Amino acid sequence: APADYRAAPDLLAGKTILVTGAGDGIGRVAALTYAAHGATVILLGRTESKLEAVYDDIESAGHPKPALVPMDLATVTDEQCIHLAQGLAEEFGQLDGLLHNASLLGERCPIENASYQAWQEVLQVNVNAQFALTRHLLPLLQAAPSASIVFTSSGVGRTGRAYWGAYAVSKFATEGFMQVLSEELENTSDIRVNCINPGATNTAMRRAAYPAENPDDNPSANDIMGVYLYLMGADSIGVTGVSFNAQ
Ligand code: NDP
Repeated sequence: APADYRAAPDLLAGKTILVTGAGDGIGRVAALTYAAHGATVILLGRTESKLEAVYDDIESAGHPKPALVPMDLATVTDEQCIHLAQGLAEEFGQLDGLLHNASLLGERCPIENASYQAWQEVLQVNVNAQFALTRHLLPLLQAAPSASIVFTSSGVGRTGRAYWGAYAVSKFATEGFMQVLSEELENTSDIRVNCINPGATNTAMRRAAYPAENPDDNPSANDIMGVYLYLMGADSIGVTGVSFNAQ
């Protein structure tokens, strides 16, 4: 099963992979893991100091030199995405992988108490920004021989659950976006498009969502990297439109 996938040490050698939300949690570990398997990672996130710390960790481990992209997905514009794509085109010429990982948890409360502003912010970060980035990075992904786009879903993106509000709706939208894009690209390009549901993972988001839980009862981000590697490497070529569980 992809969750138990064992990657060759050089699985991602020569590849350029952009990770959103690369400063913390699962995105941070995915960026470090991709770099450790030979990829040049582009670290996108909103807190520059966190991105710089990941950059330093990658450099001091002797992995390929990463790139830094400070960007707040809550306020990102079409123009910023176009500018990013132009910069990456000049520096790398192509993009082999795109991991959409950044998300906001937002409010968890009954719909009747939810705030419109908080709702819009979650949909903006978790869905609209993904669209804008994907839309403008597609030409760079097309330029790679077999690019992989990976979205991040959740259990509440497959079955709704009370009080999960905008976050659950955003994850249903993510599954839908993945399916639409995958079908569009299936016969016209070599880009594959899939989803990962990480499952309960010990990060700041999980600890905020389940404050009563013992964090150590959940696997760490390092423990769930099998499917993250599988979907970025050549062993998943031809696999598209699938929503995977990382655990
Ligand atoms: P964290 O909250 O630990 O990390 C989220 C990352 O996204 C952070 O680096 C954060 O940046 C970044 N981010 C948030 N908002 C923005 C923004 N406006 N612009 C740019 N970057 C932003 O979450 P996890 O690592 O736990 O989650 C990663 C993914 O996995 C998410 O999509 C989440 O929904 C999903 N997931 C997680 C589960 C879990 O148990 N952990 C379970 C199911 C799904 P900063 O650090 O600067 O705030």
